[in-house]
Amino acid sequence: MKILICDSLNEKVLKELQTIGECVDISLSHKKDEDLDTEIEDAEIVVIRSGTQLDKAAIDKGKSLKIIARCGVGVDNIDVDYAKSQNISVTNSPSANLISVVELTVSLIISAARKVNLSDNHVKDGKWNRKEFLGIELHGKQLGIIGFGKAGKLVSERMKSFGMSVAFYDPYIKDWDGPEESLELDELLSTSDIVSIHVIKTKETENLISKQKLDLLKENAILINTSRGGVLDEGYLIELLKSNKIFGVGLDVYSEEPPKNIEAFKNLNLISTPHIGASTSEAQLKAGLDTVENIKKILAGDTSVEI
Ligand code: NAD
Repeated sequence: MKILICDSLNEKVLKELQTIGECVDISLSHKKDEDLDTEIEDAEIVVIRSGTQLDKAAIDKGKSLKIIARCGVGVDNIDVDYAKSQNISVTNSPSANLISVVELTVSLIISAARKVNLSDNHVKDGKWNRKEFLGIELHGKQLGIIGFGKAGKLVSERMKSFGMSVAFYDPYIKDWDGPEESLELDELLSTSDIVSIHVIKTKETENLISKQKLDLLKENAILINTSRGGVLDEGYLIELLKSNKIFGVGLDVYSEEPPKNIEAFKNLNLISTPHIGASTSEAQLKAGLDTVENIKKILAGDTSVEI
């Protein structure tokens, strides 16, 4: 059985996969797209992370394809409906990356509140003008979470320990009786000091935080997005930051990756990371081992791990 590995995996995970079939690893190839086109033809299993797109055309090339395994949570880089219509099983590892993305979110919140990236550049440039780096405290402020799922709830837990109150907007959570306040989106945007986005990417969440919604942000607000690019109007967000209408921004994900408008990012209280939410040794190992288990289950006829 040929297993095509398109994105880099932990060594332990590779060894486990080798017990299932013959692994062909194109993750480090300089011509990955071309290799994908040819190697997928006789592959029965394809293992990907977020760096590979499996659209209809790519899936069609996989003449023997039985399983698409996504190491990680987001499956917006796979045409899941089409794969399923072709009787190809699709599986992911929805919980493995959680702690890592949540910890990155916390670091972006704190870094934006204290202008850590700007002050770091400042010191390294040989300067010492402390007046430029007046920050804001998190204690006593409201954190507004958009998408109160697994990641959103864990961010909430952590930020409450900083003395923040938490509100959330999630239309799929009904009759909430927890300590966090459930708000409508407009109210959440207009009352929160820090807004952190944790929705999944769907047609409905595409541009959910549009220009009009961003205009509702409080003066001095901080906005963080570690969910998926395209759920907010990034260009307008940066304009707001440039004109000092908001305090800071933290982005790990972008509508286009890597982002093209990078010049616009410079010299602002904007912390940009290159989609590294899941990039810790622990998360990669967990996601990989979950993926191996999922593949074994599907091969044994257990469909419970399929999307
Ligand atoms: P989840 O499915 O547990 O939670 C998503 C929540 O969004 C759900 O509670 C859902 O009800 C809510 N939601 C759906 N549509 C909504 C809408 N229109 N408005 C508001 N809320 C809506 O997902 P999760 O595991 O918490 O992951 C959250 C996001 O984090 C995903 O987009 C995932 O891809 C992303 N993620 C990013 C990285 C990274 O590397 N940056 C790593 C892991 C996860």
